[in-house]
Amino acid sequence: MKKQVMNIAFDDCTMDEAVNTALQYIYERKKCRVVTPNAEFAIEAKKNSRFLNILQNSEMVLPDGVSVIYASKIVGNPINSKLAGIAFAQALCSALGKEGGRLFLLGAKPGVAEKAGEKLKAEYPGLIIVGTHDGYFKDTAPVIAEINAAQPDALFVCLGAPKQEYFMEEQRDELKVPLMAGLGGSLDVLAGNVNRAPEFYQKAGLEWFYRLCKEPKRWKRMIKLPIYLWDAVIWKIKH
Ligand code: UDP
Repeated sequence: MKKQVMNIAFDDCTMDEAVNTALQYIYERKKCRVVTPNAEFAIEAKKNSRFLNILQNSEMVLPDGVSVIYASKIVGNPINSKLAGIAFAQALCSALGKEGGRLFLLGAKPGVAEKAGEKLKAEYPGLIIVGTHDGYFKDTAPVIAEINAAQPDALFVCLGAPKQEYFMEEQRDELKVPLMAGLGGSLDVLAGNVNRAPEFYQKAGLEWFYRLCKEPKRWKRMIKLPIYLWDAVIWKIKH
């Protein structure tokens, strides 16, 4: 079920349901774009109509931050669970592994996608990594040709937002892949180059705080979290 939080409608479901929906698209060979908006996405989408349009028209819209859960409560349309992009990536890999699913990894600095692929293969035997490519290419056509030749069931597009969403929009017709997911810095985490916050922080809704402590220079990005919540308060007053 979709739940509207200001101008973006999010999927309100469990991780199992999200993965099953994704698998269904793959079985039916129907195209599905997965986006993972958080406070930063929402603030960007306010001034970027192209980005907003993609978020509004993607088949799966996962609430990737505790900020979305808080905002949904403030506007009176509560979403139950946060579905972090990285957690979705892992859950989908696990499901694909059980079925011999084929995955292509696109994005991050040279070498990172390969390393993530190796780790994923070790973690989810049965998963077939059909190809990898870094995210710093100039010419798109050869990359598309490489992905299509590998015939993946799913493609992780990890170029950061909004670049990855633009890529998925522009290449939707060219790419012969049922499922495409924009997953930001997930390859860095899957490769083991960046650590996800320990479970305590995740459960307490403080993953943002852990990340801020690890990478203080992210504060400019994180300031968008309270701005987004303030927007929700204003929205609630107006409506
Ligand atoms: N990236 C890329 N190509 C680019 C710009 C960025 O592949 O042109 C990668 C970058 O190396 C990193 C990811 O995109 O792996 C973005 O990471 P970020 O920390 O912004 O992601 P998020 O905070 O959304 O998880």
